[in-house]
Amino acid sequence: MGKICAVFGGSRGIGKAVAELLARKGCHLAIIARNLEVAQNTARSLGVITSSTSVLSAGHLALSCDVSREQEVQHAFEEIQRNLGPINYLVNAAGINRDGLLLRTKTEDIVSQIHTNLLGTMLTCKAAVKSMIHHQGGAIVNIGSVVGLKGNSGQSIYSASKAGIVGFSRSLAKEVARKQIRVNVVAPGFIHTEMTAHLEEDELKKAIPLGRFGDPHEVAQAVLFLLESPYVTGSTLIVDGGLQLLI
Ligand code: NDP
Repeated sequence: MGKICAVFGGSRGIGKAVAELLARKGCHLAIIARNLEVAQNTARSLGVITSSTSVLSAGHLALSCDVSREQEVQHAFEEIQRNLGPINYLVNAAGINRDGLLLRTKTEDIVSQIHTNLLGTMLTCKAAVKSMIHHQGGAIVNIGSVVGLKGNSGQSIYSASKAGIVGFSRSLAKEVARKQIRVNVVAPGFIHTEMTAHLEEDELKKAIPLGRFGDPHEVAQAVLFLLESPYVTGSTLIVDGGLQLLI
């Protein structure tokens, strides 16, 4: 039977690539993002709609949820379990950036990055673990960033939120290992998505040993590896074309 997998931020970019790869592996996907229409389009691309509801015939589901709102996260998990069953895999790819030097960063932009990237990861993990504990374990992959490991000027808040994900995931991995729940992090470098579309690629790629930005599907391969590796927990897998070697 296919695994039940919730991909927060699965409507676009890295999360969408993860969803596509997991669907090809026979998983039943819940695609979750704030914009339901985009999430539905992604879910539709993974399976054929047979009804006017959000449940698709191939066993995929599209849901609207803001990860920073606890009630919405709880409701999303209730819907996933009601429609698909107990969750085996959780992937947290919901994230935002509001780049800028600290002195020019508005408090609302600090709060929104911490709430979406860090609090959102905590809330979804809490809800997933609650379910996994009662259903023979599971696996979680949280998407961090190489910036969270190395730091970057103009990204202090984003970097803090991503560094927090590493500390959180390592601690949670220790808490839940005996319940056969594994928690790992994938830390990408520059990846071609909407988040990086505005960047000066020609200039930035000079600092990348492999000489190019990554593709979301290359990050998805790392996520799948961690989801399927039964003896790996508490790890951070860097997927950055070697960027961390030089910064
Ligand atoms: P995109 O902007 O392409 O996609 C972000 C996804 O997150 C969308 O599905 C978006 O949907 C969802 N999302 C954003 N905010 C929320 C929220 N509050 N609640 C629920 N869903 C939300 O970004 P990427 O694919 O590039 O990024 C994915 C993850 O990878 C992020 O955590 C990012 O920080 C990280 N990352 C990306 C890198 C890159 O180079 N692209 C590098 C390193 C890390 P919607 O807007 O509808 O909610």
